[in-house]
Amino acid sequence: MNQQTLILIKPDGLKKSLTGNVLTRLSETKLDIVATKIVKVSRKLAEEHYSALRDKPFYEELIKYIMGDYHKHKVMAMVYYGESAIDKVREICGATNPEEADPVSIRGAYGRITTKGVYENVIHASRNSEEAEREIKLWFEPDEIIVDIYPTGILELKSVKKRIWA
Ligand code: UDP
Ligand code: MG
Repeated sequence: MNQQTLILIKPDGLKKSLTGNVLTRLSETKLDIVATKIVKVSRKLAEEHYSALRDKPFYEELIKYIMGDYHKHKVMAMVYYGESAIDKVREICGATNPEEADPVSIRGAYGRITTKGVYENVIHASRNSEEAEREIKLWFEPDEIIVDIYPTGILELKSVKKRIWA
């Protein structure tokens, strides 16, 4: 079954110049990249992305980590699409805890646990199709994705202010 999944190269991955390595590993899946962008993560986006972990002791550190306070203030967000995309990507990512992750997985090879106890594990990938839908809709607008993956509607806006090139 064709699926879509959200992938984030987290700020530690960008700081360590791991983008190329991560994309090369992901290309083993033969999935299609259907959206990508570099995002400066706001506190609101970080909190929404990790809303399920709000009660965890590491939550505040996790928010700072994904916002880039410890590395660079950017994340590379992508949508991959294709047969069993969710499981294929999670497999290559490896376990959440980089010490427990298979050493040949992305997290096993490049992740670490900080002295504050946060798993800096380089990459995020949606865990299941419900999570993928929630996360893709949080990070991307429909027109930023080159395939139609979820139903869309039209919102007519009367007066919109937007930044344009001067
Ligand atoms: N995390 C952490 N300590 C933990 C569990 C999670 O620092 O004990 C961080 C880690 O960066 C992880 C993120 O919180 O990737 C989200 O946790 P989740 O359980 O959703 O793991 P994932 O889906 O990323 O494998
Ligand atoms: Mg998760």
